[in-house]
Amino acid sequence: MTVKIDNYLEQNNPATPCVVVDLEQIVQNFRSMTELAPWAEVFYAVKANPAMPILSTLNNVGCSFDAASIPEIEACLAAGVPAQQISYGNTVKKSADIATAAARGIGLFAFDSLGEVEKLATAIPGAKVFCRIVVANDGARWPLTRKFGCAPDEAAPLLLAAAQAGLVPAGLSFHVGSQQTEPERWREGISRCAVLFEQLAAEGVALELVNLGGGFPVSYRNDDGPDLGEVFDAIKRALHEAFGDDLPRVLIEPGRAVVATAGKLRSEVILVTERIYGGRQRWVYLDVGRYGGLAETEGEAIQYQLEFSGLPDKFVSAVIAGPTCDSHDVLYEDASYDVPAGLKAGDQVTFRNTGAYTSTYASIGFNGFAPLTEHFV
Ligand SMILES: *Cc1c(COP(=O)(O)O)cnc(C)c1O
Repeated sequence: MTVKIDNYLEQNNPATPCVVVDLEQIVQNFRSMTELAPWAEVFYAVKANPAMPILSTLNNVGCSFDAASIPEIEACLAAGVPAQQISYGNTVKKSADIATAAARGIGLFAFDSLGEVEKLATAIPGAKVFCRIVVANDGARWPLTRKFGCAPDEAAPLLLAAAQAGLVPAGLSFHVGSQQTEPERWREGISRCAVLFEQLAAEGVALELVNLGGGFPVSYRNDDGPDLGEVFDAIKRALHEAFGDDLPRVLIEPGRAVVATAGKLRSEVILVTERIYGGRQRWVYLDVGRYGGLAETEGEAIQYQLEFSGLPDKFVSAVIAGPTCDSHDVLYEDASYDVPAGLKAGDQVTFRNTGAYTSTYASIGFNGFAPLTEHFV
């Protein structure tokens, strides 16, 4: 699946740390998603990896885009994406940014509060808006609860207020949290939306779309399933149970599931040593860490699979740490990772499925360690 990446690493031996992204794999991921869910329009969540080659590749195969800021919108436009294919999905926006987006031709906006209705109605009368509701995030390795989304009971009054203010209330959205392992969470969101569709219809407002957000899982060391086919089957059943034969327009906003499996991160071992306090333990220090792109190792939430060169026959447990002098820059301590017994400084360690939420999380050279370089193959 990632032969191209392995070949590139072998032939070019690029300076570490770096991420190598296989653009063909991204196209494959997008295509398999549209095959599994032909009833949905895919809006790629730009925040997962906003690199220009990824945006243009996805644009060329007909993908749409979920952007959260003006720079993300500008990046999509620069990649040739038509403005009608971009949704401004952040529910919290500056008025000036709404005006800029409107001037660029963006016509679809998320909101979840009255304050945002007022800003949108002033800056772009007649815009299509959808209201984000909060849903349970249990089962997500990287939950996104609380910060966004109104209580489901608030959605109908908010959508009516939007209509009164001169906006077009187009529908509803929710987000089940990232790396969601329980398809049931989408079912709950969908049935909430269906109830709200009926409530609004009774008030004379016909909603047209449901946006199921992102959260579609990929395979990591600590998560093997469910596979995407299972997730989309469950979602399709839930849609028909909730809406009958006549489905509304369905949008999905996958980020991770489009790009994660298309990337590998190569790092180098800086030091292997034993620490004797708190029980003898082997520590492996890499040239990449929490502040160089591996933000999702916080709380050891996302546990990447590691590859080691050669054919080691004996493995020993180790703590895996990053290069900075910050003591939180430890990737895995409780997750019991094993490394080859002979692993030593200068050896390479490769992290699988690192195309999402890595390069974009790399801070600007924290502690003097440069952010991740990205190569596209
Ligand atoms: C982050 C985000 C996504 C993408 O989530 P994934 O788990 O990467 O699929 C989609 N929609 C919104 C609104 C987001 O904030």
